[in-house]
Parts: sequence; structure tokens; C-alpha cells
Amino acid sequence: MVGDTALVRDAEGKPLPGTAPVAKQQGRYVGRLIANRLRGKATKPFRYHHIGSLATIGRKSAVADFGRVRLQGRIAWLLWGIIHIYFLIGFRNRLVILLDWLWAYITFQRGARLITGSIK
Ligand SMILES: Cc1cc2nc3c(=O)[nH]c(=O)nc-3n(C[C@H](O)[C@H](O)[C@H](O)COP(=O)(O)OP(=O)(O)OC[C@H]3O[C@@H](n4cnc5c(N)ncnc54)[C@H](O)[C@@H]3O)c2cc1C
Repeated sequence: MVGDTALVRDAEGKPLPGTAPVAKQQGRYVGRLIANRLRGKATKPFRYHHIGSLATIGRKSAVADFGRVRLQGRIAWLLWGIIHIYFLIGFRNRLVILLDWLWAYITFQRGARLITGSIK
């Protein structure tokens, strides 16, 4: 298992966060692992390389932490959007997600729907 479904610990034994960079690195690792296994080659254990954290915390606000560079507010929010669109695969996906986000933004749609009550 990889990504959000996996519990992987760092060198100090702390669980890695359920974030996109962790999932991406794990996905790339598993791809390499399968290719190496098919060639009969060994693969070093997975190691997470922390390149930074980005998280939205509202309609116009986010936090970005790249070690020495830390941003917050609208500039971090814009950066969050640009980086997420950039890392999508293919022009079509980028365009569809961008339009989807714009629609959700201008129509005040909720980003995540949580079922918190009992279903009757
Ligand atoms: C509201 C929200 C905000 C977030 N914000 C951030 C953020 O700002 N920064 C950050 O780094 N991370 C953020 N995350 C976390 C990030 O989205 C996840 O850590 C990352 O997407 C995990 O990747 P994944 O590949 O494990 O899972 P997913 O990205 O969830 O991919 C799993 C895929 O599998 C598909 N799938 C599920 N079941 C089946 C099935 N039976 N058959 C076929 N396909 C199936 C799903 O449809 C989905 O496309 C956020 C998450 C949420 C929910």
C-alpha cells in the first residue's frame, strides 16, 4: 500500500503525513520497485525526502513551508494553486481541474463533503 492508505514511518519513527508529496514519492518508489523486481534487481528501502509542505486554510489563504522560505496568506494560496495544477499530468487534466476549481470558487461550492450524522 502507498499514499493515504499506508502508514510509513520516518527515520525517527514518526508517521509520515497523509499529504501529496508523500503519496507521490511512494508511488514513484513502487514503480521503480516493480521495474527492478522484473529485472531481478534489489531496491533500497523507501526514504521520504521532505521538499516542503503546502496546505490551503481557507478561500484565499494557505501556508507554504520550504524550510528557509515560509509564506502564508494570499501569496501562499496562489502558489498552492499553481503548484498543484503544474504537477497534474497532461494539459487536459490541468485545464479540467482549473475550470473545476474556478467553478467551485465562484459558486462557493464546498471542497469536501463530510457525512457526520446518521443516515436515515
Ligand atoms: C480536502 C483535502 C485537502 C487536501 N489538501 C492538501 C494540501 O493542501 N497539500 C497536500 O500535500 N495534501 C493535501 N491533501 C492530501 C492529499 O490530497 C493526499 O495525501 C493525496 O491525494 C494522497 O494520494 P493517494 O494517491 O494516496 O490517494 P488519492 O489522491 O485519494 O487517490 C486515490 C485514487 O484512487 C481512486 N480509487 C479509490 N478506490 C478505487 C477503486 N476501488 N478502484 C479504482 N480507483 C479507486 C480514487 O478515486 C482516487 O482517484 C488534501 C486532502 C483532502 C481530502
